[in-house]
Amino acid sequence: MQTVNGLLMLRTALAQLRGGGGSPRSRIALVPTMGALHEGHLTLVRRARAAADHVVASIFVNPKQFGPNEDLDAYPRQLAADAALLEAEGVALLWAPTVEAMYPAGFASNISVAGVSDGLCGAARPGHFDGVATVVCKLFNQVQPDVAFFGEKDFQQLAVIRTMARDLDLTAPHVDAIIGVPTVREPDGLAMSSRNRYLTPEQRAAAAALPRAMKTAIAAIEGGAQVTATLAGLEAALIAAGFASVDYAVLADSTSLAPLGALGPTPARLLVAARIGGTRLIDNMAVTPRQS
Ligand code: AMP
Repeated sequence: MQTVNGLLMLRTALAQLRGGGGSPRSRIALVPTMGALHEGHLTLVRRARAAADHVVASIFVNPKQFGPNEDLDAYPRQLAADAALLEAEGVALLWAPTVEAMYPAGFASNISVAGVSDGLCGAARPGHFDGVATVVCKLFNQVQPDVAFFGEKDFQQLAVIRTMARDLDLTAPHVDAIIGVPTVREPDGLAMSSRNRYLTPEQRAAAAALPRAMKTAIAAIEGGAQVTATLAGLEAALIAAGFASVDYAVLADSTSLAPLGALGPTPARLLVAARIGGTRLIDNMAVTPRQS
């Protein structure tokens, strides 16, 4: 596996990977990450390997998607350990740009995807999805993958990226080649996240209440319970389990992410963000629509 951190090196390495001349071009899959890799990330890599000739992984802790009081400085960075994990998974190229390579002096552009970015995490983290859309658009242009893999763990992020790719007529990758991968969970159900390592042992044990309470709420809603009351019960269960606060607990349309007051006949999603100690955890799960 080759690791590159500047654009010229990236272009040379990609040209080598793609091949060309008389033979058909190799297919390239991209897996963007912020590093501190866990089984969730590695699952994306495995899916990517099965879908393409070569996998390019990126590791970039993107300053533009962190708010002024967020954890940019504290975010775990472990490039050597991550590189070893990616190499063991058969990744061909690691793109680990410096901040200067990604945002050279004078960088002035911003991609903002209205609507789908506005609620949920977008409301709690102003500017976050502009930062995500801008960096992912740049990663797509830099690598020009045939296919790209993202986790459903960040469900709103996936919706923002798909909307951006559709609206901007991106072709590398095309919107249909942006693949969402189901959330990988710990044995007790907690969604794997690089931020789980911020949790003390007590907080880590309490955090399992999040997926548990979500499953309980989903069973109730699917069984016909009133949505607002069920979500209030979910929030109360999290506070009782030791969470400090709940940013949101929302039933939403799976595609538009518009909040739903009642379960309808179209696919829905339960999305929650809650804080335990100083750590903000997010999770989401599918809710089976009402039979029409
Ligand atoms: P991050 O490094 O947190 O920016 O995540 C990089 C990619 O891995 C994103 O597409 C995430 O949605 C995905 N990801 C993170 N955690 C998980 C997980 N537990 N299961 C599946 N995908 C994940």
